[in-house]
Amino acid sequence: MDVRNCKMCGRLFNVLNNERICPACQKKLEDKFHEVKEYLEEHPGASVEQTATDNDISTKQIRQWVREERLILSTATEAGIVCEKCGKPIRTGRFCERCKERMANEFQNAYQKPEPKMENLRSTRDRDRMRYLKNE
Ligand SMILES: [Zn+2]
Ligand SMILES: [Zn+2]
Repeated sequence: MDVRNCKMCGRLFNVLNNERICPACQKKLEDKFHEVKEYLEEHPGASVEQTATDNDISTKQIRQWVREERLILSTATEAGIVCEKCGKPIRTGRFCERCKERMANEFQNAYQKPEPKMENLRSTRDRDRMRYLKNE
């Protein structure tokens, strides 16, 4: 089991799924998320900065939630978040619709290409493993 220092409180905790913060801070963050969500329902159109100040949380955390598509900004502005590929202001996620579509197409093309080399590699590895087990 892996242990790591919590990014928020600095305490050591057991890492289960590569998380960066301890269970206690995760819970706190989750409560905060619901606070922010309710705040945004009452204050549609509040800016990232305003939301951060009023909820006593960092703008970085709010942006992260937006990147994770858990929050959606009311308007797309340069001051909010921008597409990681082309820099266009977006309301949620990491990429704008156009870049997302383009990446989906690229992914599909890559996926459709046959890759016999990968297959060979895998079967060689399996053979190696079997030999190793037999000798044991
Ligand atoms: Zn913590
Ligand atoms: Zn884009």
